[in-house]
Amino acid sequence: MNNQSLLNRSLQSVWHPCTQMKQHETYPLIPIARGDGVWLYDADGKRYLDTVSSWWVNLFGHNNPRIKDAIKLQLDTLEHVMLAGFTHEPVVELSEKLANLTGLGHAFYGSDGASATEIALKMSFHYWRNIGQSSKTKFISLQNSYHGETLGALSVTDVAIFKDTYAPLLMQSAQMPSPDFRLSEAGETAEEFALRRAQAVENYVAAHHADLAAFIVEPLIQCAAGMGMYHPTYLRRIREICTQYEVHLIADEIAVGFGRSGTMFACEQAPIKPDFTCLSKGITGGYLPLSAVLTTDKIYQAFYDNSTVRGFLHSHSYTGNPLACSAALATLAIFETDNILQMNQQKSALIQAKMQVLTDLPVKHMRHQGMIFAFDVDTQNTQFAKQCYQAAVQQELLLRPIGNTVYWMPPYTINEEEIDFMVNTTLKVIRSIL
Ligand SMILES: *Cc1c(COP(=O)(O)O)cnc(C)c1O
Repeated sequence: MNNQSLLNRSLQSVWHPCTQMKQHETYPLIPIARGDGVWLYDADGKRYLDTVSSWWVNLFGHNNPRIKDAIKLQLDTLEHVMLAGFTHEPVVELSEKLANLTGLGHAFYGSDGASATEIALKMSFHYWRNIGQSSKTKFISLQNSYHGETLGALSVTDVAIFKDTYAPLLMQSAQMPSPDFRLSEAGETAEEFALRRAQAVENYVAAHHADLAAFIVEPLIQCAAGMGMYHPTYLRRIREICTQYEVHLIADEIAVGFGRSGTMFACEQAPIKPDFTCLSKGITGGYLPLSAVLTTDKIYQAFYDNSTVRGFLHSHSYTGNPLACSAALATLAIFETDNILQMNQQKSALIQAKMQVLTDLPVKHMRHQGMIFAFDVDTQNTQFAKQCYQAAVQQELLLRPIGNTVYWMPPYTINEEEIDFMVNTTLKVIRSIL
């Protein structure tokens, strides 16, 4: 297939996500023919190191033989069956494993992160209604939060460029000041700042708890806000506050779950147990769309009744898809057999050390958490993110800054040579556009 004709056909037929399509008059699409490990290859054989794990979903590289084989095997037995009235081995096994890992059972499945957010919000609201507290209808989230783009999820998201246009369609929700350490005062430690921000939550919740169903947060790292990182003490305090005032705590681990934050789930670092955990992205190693919401026995029991409408009647056609569940099981098996969390600690330390060469540039807030690395470039260039992306692509690097924040969230399989390539090319690219 001729590249140019594929690009033209794509522009004619595909409405690409998160894109002003007219920009493709200037910036060409990149046609990807295949992937292998951390590399994506275009139709001309040119390669790109996938430092963003294809929008934060890929854990163990493209073309991973173990995940691929698990899906192939499942394909020979059962591709799909509806999950209402039916069940199957992969969904049961995955639910048991997720319950063991999180301490929360009763896995409810969706296909994307945003649908997990919707499920958690609806379940929380419905729980309070089922136990006779039907005034608890409102949600709070963090300033600069991101929970997906469907209307409910967008209502608790706080990114103006995604949200403002749709404001008339959205539920009201209040945003608590972000614990992102970049917003702290000079001289304040990360923990002091976390406690100060948690105090603001307590003040708000003390006044409004009668109307509040849940507080939804991205534990430890606000990824879409530009990898805003914060101290785990914040989670510990908001867990206490939510418990005290009877407000659910929803942990959106969609981006940070499955080892990204350094532990299997970010909440383990506080440690806290949320009332709901939302999972997606890395859950299938980046192979197939799948999301899950896990919750407590207490919440589950409030739905368990002779009355149909007290049940959670939400559904998606592909709920618990066996192929996606088998990819997730293969992903979890890799964590176990290959000691991934431990291996990532060493890899993270290596990347942190190599990352220091970037201090030659005008950078601020160099930071890391687990397998996420970020820094902010001090520049007045309003086109920085776009130019950086373009220049990087020319140098075989897929780098996608968020504003002036440059970050790496690579597949865990990245090796030392590839780390050197990622770090040195990033340095070269940023130098070339400053
Ligand atoms: C990506 C993301 C979502 C939305 O997931 P989709 O699969 O894109 O709908 C929700 N929350 C967080 C924290 C995310 O990073």
